[in-house]
This record gives sequence, structure tokens and C-alpha cells, in this order.
Amino acid sequence: MKTVLVSGCNGFIGQNLVKKLTNEFKVIGIDNLVSSSRANLVNLNKLKNFNFIEQDIIYLEQIDDKIDYIFNLACPASPPKYQSKPIFTLETNFIGTHNLLKLAKKNNAILIQASTSEVYGDPEVHPQVETYKGNVNTIGKRSCYDEGKRVAETLCYEYRKNYNIKAKIVRIFNTYGPGMDSKDGRVISNFMVNTINKTPLVIYGDGSQTRSFCFIDDMVEALIQCMHIDFDFPINLGNENEISLNELVDIFNKTFGINKTKYIESVEDDPKIRKPDISRAKKILNWEPRTNIKDGLEQTYNYFKKTI
Ligand code: UDP
Repeated sequence: MKTVLVSGCNGFIGQNLVKKLTNEFKVIGIDNLVSSSRANLVNLNKLKNFNFIEQDIIYLEQIDDKIDYIFNLACPASPPKYQSKPIFTLETNFIGTHNLLKLAKKNNAILIQASTSEVYGDPEVHPQVETYKGNVNTIGKRSCYDEGKRVAETLCYEYRKNYNIKAKIVRIFNTYGPGMDSKDGRVISNFMVNTINKTPLVIYGDGSQTRSFCFIDDMVEALIQCMHIDFDFPINLGNENEISLNELVDIFNKTFGINKTKYIESVEDDPKIRKPDISRAKKILNWEPRTNIKDGLEQTYNYFKKTI
């Protein structure tokens, strides 16, 4: 049985990925539990073929097992969380990713780097195609995450070029679904909590900003597909169905009943539009999302209803 190491295993994407991987692989999960709850580990620890190591990838210790694949998902991804620890976010992305690449080199392992749509910043090209170089502010609130993820991509690129390490970069766009942390501060998790608690949906700005939301099961399928196909250029992973936040509010109202809304000031450097061009993913990975937003939100609602 081959071994997969998943850093950030206790995060939202990590947990969902680990659950799928343990059907086929031995999984070593690493997490520092800084931005995820220890309670989630109870579910992970019940899985067969799963071993947990509480550790920070910035201080990665020796791992004696032979590793075949590495998923680097370790980094707080929620804006309020990464903004509260900016230097740590930078170190996680640079030092942490470097440590995992060294581990990949030692084991001749395949590494899949979870990059992000944030490498495009506040984009001037729409939809965002992988060849677009982005519009990122180096000295703003989001910079620690955006620039951290950008330099992590560069590290992967240099390890591939200099050491022939099969480091593959995927740029993950907004993803939602069961397993999201209710305190994550993301729009879908916040709206779920508001809907269940019957408190107003709070919109930052005028609600005209757009996002394209991908359901977690679709994202996990794409990530697993990346293990088996090699590529030496970044690939966008996300849903092409772009909606404004005002449209998202409408979908919530239609699906879960009318709720009040409250518009407050927009947040600094908040991208105004976001939609992935996923032509590469379709062609190279033979993948595209299948879950429509209404179905995905209903599944997410059922999860939140049970957990909060
Ligand atoms: N947002 C909002 N209300 C919330 C949380 C977020 O209006 O309760 C906005 C946020 O400013 C952004 C969009 O929703 O324009 C998506 O935010 P999220 O944090 O989910 O993801 P990201 O900013 O990383 O795309």
C-alpha cells in the first residue's frame, strides 16, 4: 500500500481528502491545529489507514516512513485567520513548503501544492486563466497569504527544474461544503450560521463582487486525479459558475427561506471578480465540477445543522 502525507489534514479540504484517500492509501496526516479544531480529529482518528502527527511544517521533524505522495494543504486560508498571523502565514508558505519539498526530494515523492486563486489578486483578466500573472498588492492585508502562495509556487517550480521533483501546482478557487468550520469567517460558512441562527446575512460592500463556488466533493475528485497525471504548469481548480454575492443571497433565500440582509463597509483589497478558466483541468485532468450550487448548499446546510 502506498503512503500519502497530507499536511493541513485537519482543515476543511484536508479532512475531506483524507477520508477519500484512506480507502486506497496509508495516510500520514500532519497538522499544527492552529486554525482547526481538535474535536475534528476524533473523526479522522477513527479512519483505518490513518496516522496523525501534531506538528508544524515550519519545524518539520524527520519522518521515517517511505512517502510516495505529499499534499501540501497546510496554511490558514480564511482571510480573518491568516490576517491575524501574517508572519506565520508567510513562514508556513515559504519555510513549510520548502521543508515538504526537501522531504519529497529525499523520498522521490510526488508533491501536490495547494495554491490559490489569490495568486491572481484583484484580477484585471477575466475569467482567470493560468497564464495571467496577476494583480497582487505586496503590502496589504491579504499580501501575506497571496505572496506566500506565490513564492511557494516558485519553490515548486525550482524543485522541478533543479531536482526533477514531480511538484504539481493547483490553484484552488473558493470551495465550500460539509466540514467547513463555522468560525472560518468565509461567506458560505457565515451565511450558513446566519441562516440557522436566523440572524441577518452580512454583506461586505454592495454585494456586486463575484465568486465561483466549488463543492468539496468535486474538489477532492480533482485533487485525487492530480496524483495520477503529471503536469509541469499550474492548473486552476474551481467551478465556472460565477455569481455575485447578491445572487448568492437570492439562492439562500430561495433555498432556506427569506432572511434579512445587512450591508456593511467592504474589506481592504477584496477581489471584485473571480472566476476560473478551467480549460486546462478539463483537458489535462479530464475533470469538471458536477454539483450544482443548490444541491451543494443543501448538503452543507444539513452538515451545519448537525454541528452548530
Ligand atoms: N463576505 C461577505 N460576508 C461574509 C463573509 C465574506 O460579504 O460574511 C464577502 C467577502 O468580502 C468576499 C466574498 O464574500 O467579497 C468571499 O469571501 P470569502 O472570505 O468567503 O472568500 P475570499 O475572499 O477568499 O474569496
